Amino acid sequence: MKVIDEPAALRAVLDEARRLGHDVGFVPTMGALHGGHRSLVRRAVAECDRVVVSLFVNPLQFGPGEDFESYPRDLAADLAQAEEAGADLVFAPSTRTMYPEGPLTTVSVRYLSDALEGRSRPGHFDGVATVVAKLFAIVGPCLAYFGEKDYQQLLIVSRLVHDLSFPVTVVPCPTIREPDGLALSSRNAYLSPDDRKAAPIFYWSLLAGKRAIEENGVTDPAQVSAVMQGAAGREGRARLDYAQVARPHDLCVPQVITSEVRLMIAGHVGRTRLIDNLVASPPDKEGAP
Ligand code: AMP
Repeated sequence: MKVIDEPAALRAVLDEARRLGHDVGFVPTMGALHGGHRSLVRRAVAECDRVVVSLFVNPLQFGPGEDFESYPRDLAADLAQAEEAGADLVFAPSTRTMYPEGPLTTVSVRYLSDALEGRSRPGHFDGVATVVAKLFAIVGPCLAYFGEKDYQQLLIVSRLVHDLSFPVTVVPCPTIREPDGLALSSRNAYLSPDDRKAAPIFYWSLLAGKRAIEENGVTDPAQVSAVMQGAAGREGRARLDYAQVARPHDLCVPQVITSEVRLMIAGHVGRTRLIDNLVASPPDKEGAP
């Protein structure tokens, strides 16, 4: 596995691979790799000839007072995991390489960036969209693998590719979970032992919302939100930020749940902010074709 820290060097290697007719798979990450990241890399390895993983903690997507400084960084461990998962290349640029002057150009995907995480973390998705656009420009034509764990991010990146005609195919990948349901996340490393025990509460709340829709036939989004809030409220260590029903394509709250929705949840357990989501589909109406 080759480690590269200069954009021009990465582009040269990938251009040569494409010249030979190889498909390029790209897995952008902020490092602190875990089984969720490895699943993306394995999928890319299964579907592409050359796979590059980027490791870059992007300062633009952290707000003031967020965890940019303390975000877990361990290059040696990340390289070992990327290699084990089968990556051919790792792109690990410095902040100065990525933003030598601080960018005057930023990318913003309107509307999709405003709701949910966007409301809780103003500017976050502009930072994400800007770095992803820059990474796509460096990597060039590729299949890019993104986790459904960050569903809003996945939608925003898909829209960015569509609107700006990047030669990129976005491949959504399922959320990988611990046996108790907690979605794998680099931020899980912050959880104290007691917080870790409490942390699956958000997944269980999503399951409660999913049951309300799929088994109890609830079609009122407010009622489903109330079910999720009630479930989350039973864990004293959890502080809910939002528990919302969203249309899968635009994240708006539907008036009535008549087709597939995404249940979106976020909050703190102790001092750690966690997000998760789950798909839910109302039962087929009797007599429907
Ligand atoms: P991050 O390093 O947190 O920015 O995540 C990099 C990529 O890994 C994103 O596409 C995430 O959605 C994806 N990812 C993070 N956690 C998981 C997980 N538990 N399952 C699947 N994909 C994940």
